[in-house]
Amino acid sequence: MESVPSVKEPTVSILYRFPGERRSLLPLLTEMQKEAGFLSESAIRDISLHLGLTDNEVYGVASYYPWFRFAPSPEAPPEPSSERSPGATSPSGGAVVVCNAARGEPGDVDRFLLANQPAAIVQGLLREAKRLGFGRAVIWVDAEWPTAAERVTRAAGEAEKGGIVFAVVRVPGAFMHRDEAAFLKAFEGERPIGDRPPGEPRVAVYSAERLVRLAKETRSTALYALGGSVREPGAVQAAADVTVRQLFERAGGIIPTGKTLKAFQAGGPLGKWLPADRLDELAGADSLGASTCGSGSFQFANVDACAVDLAARSLEFLSRNLCGKCAICREGTMQMAEILCDITRGKGKAADLTLLVELGEGLATTGGCALGRAAPNALLSTMQAFRDEFDAHVRRNTCLAGRCGAGREIP
Ligand code: SF4
Repeated sequence: MESVPSVKEPTVSILYRFPGERRSLLPLLTEMQKEAGFLSESAIRDISLHLGLTDNEVYGVASYYPWFRFAPSPEAPPEPSSERSPGATSPSGGAVVVCNAARGEPGDVDRFLLANQPAAIVQGLLREAKRLGFGRAVIWVDAEWPTAAERVTRAAGEAEKGGIVFAVVRVPGAFMHRDEAAFLKAFEGERPIGDRPPGEPRVAVYSAERLVRLAKETRSTALYALGGSVREPGAVQAAADVTVRQLFERAGGIIPTGKTLKAFQAGGPLGKWLPADRLDELAGADSLGASTCGSGSFQFANVDACAVDLAARSLEFLSRNLCGKCAICREGTMQMAEILCDITRGKGKAADLTLLVELGEGLATTGGCALGRAAPNALLSTMQAFRDEFDAHVRRNTCLAGRCGAGREIP
């Protein structure tokens, strides 16, 4: 009979080292796994009881990160990321070029590119590997994109690799992978936090979009992901000097018919929400900040959107998806999200607005990495452009867009 490895059950003493709040979830999962080597059903249950969450919520978060395990392994300690091909991704095996297509951002253009231009991505990666003299190439694909992964795997199988070892690896996407330092950490099988790994990594990281441009030798166009209240959301290729208005028109304009555009967010959840009168600016302009946020994503909102709600949604997303290493970012994003949600529920106070500005400006200047410093963008930009809406919520308990008051909870 096969021998079953001995398993240490999580101890109560670990649980009670952490406050019974949602922000303790990741540190608790980490400690529990350290203790037992994996996360057992009883560990998940204990954590959910301690934090007041459901088992599914705890499992959902844990399964999001590649290094958590849910079964004992005969080989201890387990590899941090069991989904990787052994030897295919570890930088210690030699210099490697990587396509980072697991950046966990809603509406990311990578998915579109992997599915529609897989050969160009493979070709671009091989070309860079040869140029740099690196012997290995890896594509990290978000595990939630099976079609994209299949197509790029097929393209890799058909390519002439010239002796370069090539692997396509499916990993859970994580928003922190946008930050190169955090990505390199994750690539080494560690938690993706915004600290560069020590030493000089022999890893060259590329986005899917950059590889397509390298393969096609077209530097004068860029790819944009368009979404929100538009008729034809999706990815479009456009000249580098395209304006936001031209992108908006390519997306078919606002829906529903009869409504007008209120604002757009340039650069994904880290980006600023800007009023419709900025539509004629260049999509790549520094003043919009989309390229600074490392994302060619544009979201459009119609006049029914509430500015407080728009800011709340960005901060909710970020409070759950940034790595949580720095207290100012971990606590700050959580607090800003909570205050904003309270305001949308009619529980805001005038003093909240002062606190929000302090928290936002504090994080913008002292955050531990570029992602953390960009996290308050959505809040500070909406407060600047739509201050009357914030005031109406906290002083008159009124949502000028007529949207708030339904009692949205922070997940
Ligand atoms: S600033 Fe935020 S995202 Fe950056 S390392 Fe600190 S906690 Fe992580």
